[in-house]
Amino acid sequence: MAKVAVVGSINMDLVVRVPRFPIAGETILGGVFQTIPGGKGANQAVAARRLGAEVAMIGRAGGDAFGGVLRQNLVYEGISTERLMVDDGQATGVALITVEDSGENMIIVVPGANGQITTADIDAARSLIAEADILLMQLEIPLEVAEYAAELAHVRGVTLILNAAPAQPLPPALLAQVDYLLVNEVEAGLLAGTAPAHPADAARTLQALGAQAVVVTLGAEGSLLVSQGGISVVAPSFAVHAVDTTAAGDAFAGAFAGALAGGMAPEQALRWGNAAGALAVTRAGAQPSLPTRLEVEEFLKNQV
Ligand code: ADP
Repeated sequence: MAKVAVVGSINMDLVVRVPRFPIAGETILGGVFQTIPGGKGANQAVAARRLGAEVAMIGRAGGDAFGGVLRQNLVYEGISTERLMVDDGQATGVALITVEDSGENMIIVVPGANGQITTADIDAARSLIAEADILLMQLEIPLEVAEYAAELAHVRGVTLILNAAPAQPLPPALLAQVDYLLVNEVEAGLLAGTAPAHPADAARTLQALGAQAVVVTLGAEGSLLVSQGGISVVAPSFAVHAVDTTAAGDAFAGAFAGALAGGMAPEQALRWGNAAGALAVTRAGAQPSLPTRLEVEEFLKNQV
């Protein structure tokens, strides 16, 4: 079975709906409140797992109740949590999400234990990473840890997909280890440092900075891949009725990684990513919206 190792964040999303945001010093009553497993690392791990990959989650949760619930959730999905450390001195990462009835949201992410992942954690997970087909990472963990893990993957010949989100300046040494840099349009522009007229140009700029290949997700437009030689391929999106775009990018990343790990050609993996992203936007929430392999296969079968 295709193996994907994820080094990344795991959060509990605390989501409340409000008629309007309070102003400083004001107390208002919220509506529906939900606790939903999240964090880009865990979301992408679940996305890849639901598409059939064997997945190991490498990261840190806190010693609080959320940590236990999140671990159980991954176990339930069939993801290895052998190297998901419990950090008793830290709180589990949380995202405090307030959604206004208008659809606007305000989000505070508290990294907690995610910010305490160390290079020693990566050393302890060395064999899981070395045995994987793909190492999938994001940037919700300390950058030096991501760099360390990237180097390990590179040395062991493990394909590295870096989803550079949230966008932040990337050390050239890290970019040079990246096989597929995965970004959305906004992140592509931010990282390229300019505002290129076309996302393919931003992707080429990022490639010139060291990434082997660059994938840009284009929201309702699908995605594109710029591979060696600067050649770009666009994979058109699938028309769906979008109700909630949360985790579309995570659905894409997990599906793309799972497909590549399974030996699919990159152009075909883009199509899988698009299908998973499209299905995810038709449903509410992050992890609950991530499709299974069967759903993606059915969906693709019904496309002309
Ligand atoms: P992010 O959530 O990181 O901003 P995108 O918005 O680019 O990422 O979405 C990721 C992928 O999900 C896209 O490449 C596309 O395949 C799919 N997707 C997103 N929004 C839609 C939509 N409205 N209709 C169809 N597919 C979508």
